[in-house]
Amino acid sequence: MNTLRIIFKHLVFYLIIFSFEISFSQDNPPKVLVVTAHPDDDAAFSGANYKIIHDLKGTVDLALITNGEGGYKYSTLAEDIYGLELTNEDTGRKYLPEIRKKELEAGGKIVGIRNYYYFDQKDHRYITSADIKEILDSNIWNLDFIRTKLKNIIETEKYDFVFVLTPSPGTHAHHSSAGILALQVINSLDSESRPVVLGGTVSNKNDSVKFIYKGFEGFPVTNVSDTIPFEFDRTQKFGYKDVLDYKIIVNWVIAEHKSQGTMQLLMNRGDIENYWYFDINPESGKKKTSDLFDKLKINYYVKKEYK
Ligand SMILES: [Zn+2]
Repeated sequence: MNTLRIIFKHLVFYLIIFSFEISFSQDNPPKVLVVTAHPDDDAAFSGANYKIIHDLKGTVDLALITNGEGGYKYSTLAEDIYGLELTNEDTGRKYLPEIRKKELEAGGKIVGIRNYYYFDQKDHRYITSADIKEILDSNIWNLDFIRTKLKNIIETEKYDFVFVLTPSPGTHAHHSSAGILALQVINSLDSESRPVVLGGTVSNKNDSVKFIYKGFEGFPVTNVSDTIPFEFDRTQKFGYKDVLDYKIIVNWVIAEHKSQGTMQLLMNRGDIENYWYFDINPESGKKKTSDLFDKLKINYYVKKEYK
């Protein structure tokens, strides 16, 4: 009899939890994983991520592939801040992994990043994606480890969306490699644990030629047929008298990366975050994606009156 009572109690308990989960999922706050190569790459998504977290009450996690220690050459201005000769290769490579994680998390605190997955791969040197084989056909990165860990994270967390930088020949080979590895992993997943994966580029409102991303030749997982991306406008206004915008957030994130001199030069640049819909995504994911970007266009600021 006692055993029956215990089983019944457990059943009631699980039913309560189950119904709570259902009611929670009805609100459906978006759950996002950003997969990037270097500790400052996520700035490309900071406007949308901030609004997803703060206004839509969503979640954003970050998977970081390298330690970012290759970024020592332009660390001049950070040397006095950290009391280290970071522009010396040995010193930079020794201390930057820890410093850059702290800078990343300081920026992440502003945006509201929930969780960091560090893959601790070597940031060996700057090469463009024309030499991407140097990463994808070598053991500089532990590719099996990256694929397995990414797969586990995505299957466990069941993200709605994954953001990567668009892989392309002219960009850093680390950026393209991180994107391609994420796309390959997502392409191998069962449909029920498969997030929509979007490729990020940043553009300006007054760009005379509109860039159209089509993919990276030789890597079919990167193909994009849609010629119009989903957009997040960083210049959308909010706050008292509508004077604030999301470029402020991106600038704050950039400012945290004090060891990265050239990153600072990107301050206030980039009006639009473009999110390209990769062809490996199902057609059915487009509605969910356009719903997200429609919600990100709404001004959620509650107007205040002052005497
Ligand atoms: Zn980078």
